[in-house]
Amino acid sequence: MNDDLIARGVAAASDTSVVQVGRGVVADTGTILRDSLFADGRDALVVADDRTWQAAGRAVQESLRAAGIRVHDPLVFPGHPVLYAALETCDVVQARLAETGALGVAVGSGTINDLVKLASGRLEQPYAVVGTAASMDGYSGFGAPMSSQGVKVTMPCPAPAVVIIDLDVTAAAPPSMVASGYGDLSAKIPAGADWILSDTIGLDPIDPLAWQLVQSGVSEALSRPEALAAGDPDAYAGLVSGLVLSGLAMQVYRGTRPASGAEHYFSHLWELDHLGADWDPPLSHGHKVAIGTLAMSAFYERFLARDLAALDIEAAVSHWASWDVVEADIRSRFTGALADHAVGETAVKYVDPAGLRARLTRFVDAWGELRPRLEAQLVPARTLQTMLRSAGAPATPEEIGLSAEDVRTTFPRAMYYRSRYTVLDLAREAGWFDDLVAEVFAPGGLWT
Ligand SMILES: [Zn+2]
Repeated sequence: MNDDLIARGVAAASDTSVVQVGRGVVADTGTILRDSLFADGRDALVVADDRTWQAAGRAVQESLRAAGIRVHDPLVFPGHPVLYAALETCDVVQARLAETGALGVAVGSGTINDLVKLASGRLEQPYAVVGTAASMDGYSGFGAPMSSQGVKVTMPCPAPAVVIIDLDVTAAAPPSMVASGYGDLSAKIPAGADWILSDTIGLDPIDPLAWQLVQSGVSEALSRPEALAAGDPDAYAGLVSGLVLSGLAMQVYRGTRPASGAEHYFSHLWELDHLGADWDPPLSHGHKVAIGTLAMSAFYERFLARDLAALDIEAAVSHWASWDVVEADIRSRFTGALADHAVGETAVKYVDPAGLRARLTRFVDAWGELRPRLEAQLVPARTLQTMLRSAGAPATPEEIGLSAEDVRTTFPRAMYYRSRYTVLDLAREAGWFDDLVAEVFAPGGLWT
């Protein structure tokens, strides 16, 4: 089923034309790329780090050569300390690609892929990635998160033309990497619920193909956490496909909505605080996302414990905070440029009292149909916590260096951080936000 879905995703994707996932496919890299990326006879430059060179890079280089592709000396970065996706490093990759005239073949996971993706995008040339770990859903996505002088920005650039992932290689990667990919994929559960809510009020209409790509394989992909943690290559098929499909869904939708909701904003905000950046290895994207996902799953549980159909809309409208009050609250929770950013983002989704009345009326009217959809989409927070733990992913704030209180104070920040509409906004509009956050952290809660 996944192969068929991947084929449909590739057919609709803007940038990616070949996806090959399977056991032992690294050995076929040369023939796959000779008939696709290098069909015009261009040279190849393999980009890796010491670890990924050992894991797959050398085999890729040999496979390319055996297939008759002219390969340059590989660009291999040190494996330790862990390589950062920094613009200065991207410049190095870009310069080597430009001076050789070669097309890039990234062999690695998040960072190596992002570096070659951005360097190739700047040179307006396609590239291929051979993924070495099931660590995140960015292999098949566009855009590259980069740090530049301490600030993290996502640079626009196309997704890879060719994605090759060998399940034997991913199964042999460090266990924390699969735990990260597992966390990133678990995010699609609350993210899907947020998308349903946004679609209901016409903000981000659900695209049926993008939805199917990202959501249909999630439960299967998350169903064998112990086997993943144990390094069983066959268990990786579902997870790797799920991560690749998530990236394809973003290409089809031309946006990140299919793959992320409020749970990702927790992760982004912690990343801006450099949480775990000095750990060895640095705290991964998926590990932060896992805690954001649990926070949002617990919030959704408290939300669904109430009956939105019985909401007193006029009372909610009469208590609706004016924009000045909202802006003051945002500025009390953020500093500097981030405060201006959050004000701008929140203004996009802020409505006046008449707009609020219309929005809440829409939700109340739709609630009979919406509620079962949300319940079918979500997984109880404690169930998800057990699954994450089995996969080796963090299941408590302390495991990523935070306290429950840190997560609690991130809730309003996550609401204000982006213009994307989520259940946090609906809760605020209904007048429930503070109470629901308090309930998540009340005695007997997930982390208390
Ligand atoms: Zn993610």
